[in-house]
Amino acid sequence: MAFEGLAERLQGTIQKIKGKGLVTEQDVKAMMREVRLALIEADVNLKVVKEFVKKVSERAVGTEVMKSLTPGQQVIKIVQDELTTLMGGEQSPIKFNTKPPTVIMMVGLQGAGKTTTTGKLANVLRKKHNRKPLLVAADVYRPAAIQQLQTLGKQLSIPVFALGNDVSPVEIARQAIEHAKEEHHDVVIIDTAGRLHIDEALMDELKNIKALKEPDEVFLVVDAMTGQDAVNVAQSFNETIGITGVVLTKLDGDTRGGAALSIRAVTEKPIKFVGMGEKMDALEAFHPERMASRILG
Ligand code: GDP
Repeated sequence: MAFEGLAERLQGTIQKIKGKGLVTEQDVKAMMREVRLALIEADVNLKVVKEFVKKVSERAVGTEVMKSLTPGQQVIKIVQDELTTLMGGEQSPIKFNTKPPTVIMMVGLQGAGKTTTTGKLANVLRKKHNRKPLLVAADVYRPAAIQQLQTLGKQLSIPVFALGNDVSPVEIARQAIEHAKEEHHDVVIIDTAGRLHIDEALMDELKNIKALKEPDEVFLVVDAMTGQDAVNVAQSFNETIGITGVVLTKLDGDTRGGAALSIRAVTEKPIKFVGMGEKMDALEAFHPERMASRILG
């Protein structure tokens, strides 16, 4: 299960302070040492850990907490609050264009779960937002990508716009947007190419698609299991092409949690959705507060 180690360690730590009628600065210090280790073990970015510990410590040793009737509980509440803030605070909704179609570009490295997430997202848009999405197969390099998206489209009964492997992704995107207007699709989701590594050719192509019509959302799909690598990938994509949000996949696996806890602080871009399995209904909106509660038990 995701976050298991982190949850266990944090819960163990806060248990010690929970019922205390008197919390000293020493108690807070001891607790924060354990919190720090727990976060580092969960593969959270070091700078993020430092700032988190500093913020919680400052608030927790404040006179109001120390003098309150339930200081232990207050300290726990501060940890919970700051964990929520760290993951973005409020849930971040999809930004729809007031003039349809809304264009959503899906980007990411190969294997992160981009194509699967594209299908899942279309499903969410139709079911939860009452939209009529069009999927666009613009990953012309990975041999089976177009077919994979078509299979998902068929399974979901959501149309897929494809022009084969020989047309440039920019041209595919251009025609797809025209097609969406004609067929009254109010959301266009473009599945772009992924590579094994970040390279200039990939970034240039994404920039060109982006230049065609400024997308309303650029969602980066990253694999939560890759921990700090996911954070580095997010930082690169954000700096090079600019993203509006992150989808963290494979959170159903036993990820330690580092990516979920670091991405927002490092990139300042919200986690919008999390992938909770391979099936088409396994995409959930990301709620920082609920995630913090889940971690702290
Ligand atoms: P792409 O190369 O980024 O387009 O990756 P794919 O969409 O082909 O996904 C790669 C693999 O990850 C596939 O086997 C997917 O079923 C799997 N996958 C994607 N998202 C999730 C998820 O949230 N949880 C799990 N367990 N597997 C996922």
